[in-house]
Amino acid sequence: MFQRILVANRGEIALRVIRACKELDIEVVAVFSEADRAAPYLEQADRAICIGRGPSVDSYLNRPRIIAAAEVADVQAIHPGYGFLSENPDFAEVCRSSGFEFIGPPHEAIRKMGLKTEAKQIAAAAQVACVPGSDGVIANDAQALGLARQIGFPVLIKAAAGGGGKGMRLCSDERSLASALRTARGEAEAAFKNPSVYLEKFLERPRHVEVQILADTRDQIVHCWDRDCTLQRRHQKLVEEAPASTLTEEVRARMGAAAVRLARAAGYVNAGTCEFLVDADQNFYFIEVNARIQVEHPVTEMVTGIDLVKQQIRIAAGEPLPFRQEDIAIRGHSIQCRINSEDPENDFRPSPGRITGLRIPGGPGVRWDSHIQVGYSVPPFYDSLLGKLIVHAPTRLEAIATMRRALDELVIEGIRTTIPLHRKIMRNPDFLAGRVDTTWVERVWTPRPVAAR
Ligand code: ADP
Repeated sequence: MFQRILVANRGEIALRVIRACKELDIEVVAVFSEADRAAPYLEQADRAICIGRGPSVDSYLNRPRIIAAAEVADVQAIHPGYGFLSENPDFAEVCRSSGFEFIGPPHEAIRKMGLKTEAKQIAAAAQVACVPGSDGVIANDAQALGLARQIGFPVLIKAAAGGGGKGMRLCSDERSLASALRTARGEAEAAFKNPSVYLEKFLERPRHVEVQILADTRDQIVHCWDRDCTLQRRHQKLVEEAPASTLTEEVRARMGAAAVRLARAAGYVNAGTCEFLVDADQNFYFIEVNARIQVEHPVTEMVTGIDLVKQQIRIAAGEPLPFRQEDIAIRGHSIQCRINSEDPENDFRPSPGRITGLRIPGGPGVRWDSHIQVGYSVPPFYDSLLGKLIVHAPTRLEAIATMRRALDELVIEGIRTTIPLHRKIMRNPDFLAGRVDTTWVERVWTPRPVAAR
């Protein structure tokens, strides 16, 4: 096992990894930007090293500085968290060629999964159904038109290198296809430095369900069942649940098996997620693999009892998985609400600033994964996640009741947050009955034409 690990990230996920290291008796080195210098979680690390100025390109995205910090601190491994460099195959490769284990998949697997077109081809070859669409990257407008006519409008033009809900363009008729392709290519080039786009049938009102995978270096691959992440805004998840309560047991088992097949075909190692869209008839279609730990991983931890971050570290150290598929059971129901520093009353405008008051919920079935404290200033440079409120109860309705109670206890003063929106969602009859889809939050809570996203 490693003696010392560096966490190449910030905020709640940095603290999450620090906590896992402490429990594994591993020394942990944090890095921070000048904007995070006063962040309270840095005190939990054994050592903290400044890697540059506030903007991410100068710090959390700056590979030479992170590698230099790893060398100075003499660590054996680097945990990338999520976001930043976590799915950058070059970074994974540089870590390993510099003598540090990268706590994530092999760089070859990250590279394959990073191009969604390639991931879909691997899925198709592994007999995993994909959303109907182009076989690969769109070569020209004529090809796109032919294909769109064949699968039928509306279609979605997506960046091959896309992520984070960015680089998607909805197109509802032939007339707007050429301009939608042009805009999508421009956006993809600007956001991902890769103008390649592909085309998919736009599924009407699907649910988003994903499967958690764990794969060790000894050819063992298991899935840890599913999560429902249907509640999204601008393709960004807001509320996540495990298990996905609308799936039949038969579909759940097939989806888990499909995810394992796909991971095997991709040569996948470590933790990862296969994402699917599910239609009203429970047909599921693969959309992409996330080759990292995800923000919503705690709901899976709550229902399976598996600490996914510790497993990531153990796998990277070469240990075999300590369980088999048949040992992984689902117990009860878990829900997570993402608490962001955004104003839901004001088109979710970011609300950085100083936290002047904080009351953290507790009691049975409540978990709070967050780096914030009173007096902490939310820097303007990074994403707006303040914390994740997670609950666990025997049934979905009991979990919702616990979440309502915990949201009422949670108070964050000084900045605007998404807490009021979550309080309303947890009391909404359609949410309670599971009558939601991926466009529901925008249709019901932030009324704007979907095509304008
Ligand atoms: P990203 O990598 O940017 O997160 P994904 O491919 O995972 O992009 O899609 C994110 C979300 O966008 C999905 O959860 C779903 O809500 C929506 N979406 C993606 N593809 C489709 C599709 N073909 N039809 C309908 N909605 C889609």
